[in-house]
Amino acid sequence: MSDGISCKQFQELLDALLDQELGEDEAGVLAGHVGDCPGCADLQAAELHLRSLIKERLHQRLVSTPPHLRARILVSIHRQTLVRLDPPRPH
Ligand SMILES: [Zn+2]
Repeated sequence: MSDGISCKQFQELLDALLDQELGEDEAGVLAGHVGDCPGCADLQAAELHLRSLIKERLHQRLVSTPPHLRARILVSIHRQTLVRLDPPRPH
């Protein structure tokens, strides 16, 4: 397709796609690429699997963590997410 993207572009956007940071148009273009490209479909599946493993690990760790530490871990995860989403601004 003429408006498709390259594998390199797909890989660059895959993280944003899985974080649901892309608009519908971009997500649609990526979905179209996966349909045409088994290599990137594999990559996406592997990335999804990896993410579910990480979530599972995190969950297990939280479950076996005392409540006062659990809150602290959640806060630090939340803070990291905010830092990543919010680029630093001048004060
Ligand atoms: Zn590809």
